[in-house]
Amino acid sequence: MISQRAQSIIPSPTLSIDAKAKALKQKGIDIINFGIGEPDFDTPKNIKEVAITAINSGFTKYCPVPGTLEIKNAIINKLKRDNNTTYLPDEIIVSSGAKHSLYNLFQAIIDPEDEVIIPAPYWVSYTDMVILAGGKPIIINTTDKNNFKITSDLIKKVITSKTKAIIINSPSNPTGVTYCQNELKEIAQVCLENKILIISDEIYEKLVYDNFKFTSIVQAYPQVKDTAILINGVSKAYAMTGWRIGYAAGNKEIISAMTKIQSQSTSNASSISIKAAVEALNGTQEYVEIMRKEFEKRRNYIVERLNSIEGINCIKPEGAFYVFPNISSILCKSFNGKNINSDIEFADYLLNQARIAVVPGTAFGAKGYIRISYATSIENIQKGIGRLENALKNKI
Ligand code: PMP
Ligand code: GLU
Repeated sequence: MISQRAQSIIPSPTLSIDAKAKALKQKGIDIINFGIGEPDFDTPKNIKEVAITAINSGFTKYCPVPGTLEIKNAIINKLKRDNNTTYLPDEIIVSSGAKHSLYNLFQAIIDPEDEVIIPAPYWVSYTDMVILAGGKPIIINTTDKNNFKITSDLIKKVITSKTKAIIINSPSNPTGVTYCQNELKEIAQVCLENKILIISDEIYEKLVYDNFKFTSIVQAYPQVKDTAILINGVSKAYAMTGWRIGYAAGNKEIISAMTKIQSQSTSNASSISIKAAVEALNGTQEYVEIMRKEFEKRRNYIVERLNSIEGINCIKPEGAFYVFPNISSILCKSFNGKNINSDIEFADYLLNQARIAVVPGTAFGAKGYIRISYATSIENIQKGIGRLENALKNKI
């Protein structure tokens, strides 16, 4: 009864772990949830108020499939202001979350057997969305030894006649690692030479630390503007995960194909959320900075605490709200009488024994690591890391 296509993928592991953690919490079990990548802050008040006005004034009907001109202009202004790049309205599509924009994109560009290069560790949904579109993910593995970064040489090694696209996600989910302008330029050059479409997922753009200056790949190497599709959204920067607004910007033929696909599936993103996103992009940016500063404090704290635990090694990333510690040296040991042989078993052990939810590195294509989201209060982080420390006592 179930199609081969549906059988070829797994449910999103990050969402599954979050559901598990929330179910335990509902049962009254005190879980610290480091599992989900979702800001713990409330959506800023100015944004909520605009949405309430949209409802009260009847802005509650269908609107154009790729978004209203108002939201497109807000995105165009944002791309000019923040990324110094000029786009036209027919080069923009607004979808129900950046995940949905990515889904439309893969459906729009992939033919059977087309290859998409994905650096690992990767965000859980990239590989499965490529598979759903009939394509083949080609993974480039990286480790903490090289700061989880790919280079143009690594890309050259995997290019074939079937290579269609590459995904660059900077700052990265799950590692938090961020590419600088020169690194992006080098990657962009090799992609242009080899006619590879660049999918640049910039959703964590606003969450960078240590005065790191975020650069979009089209700023780093403007020659790829027509062969790069930017993916972004309001979920992370404005604490708007539930509003479901993301967008893509790039070549108008590709955007038009994505629009056609969206017109036959979900139509426009929620009109009310679109109004709210206009306010997020055009309105005051002061809350973005307040949240960013708080994330930076949490990152500093969590990295220091993790590195003080024997057997855990954690690089200090410049972006997003994740850390991706290497836990390989605590594997194949026994803790409190329980053998732990993999990051999956370790994540299970942490959930059952320490009551903390983390995502095993395997979900991101990187065995021997775990992902900890620090999009939670500093009190929760203190408590959760304390539990992690205790769970690693009584080693045999
Ligand atoms: N890209 C990355 C790297 C992400 O971590 C997320 C988080 N869910 C998304 C895209 C999608 O975000 P959303 O659909 O909430 O806009
Ligand atoms: N991107 C977030 C995460 O990785 C949200 C969950 C999801 O969409 O996978 O946790």
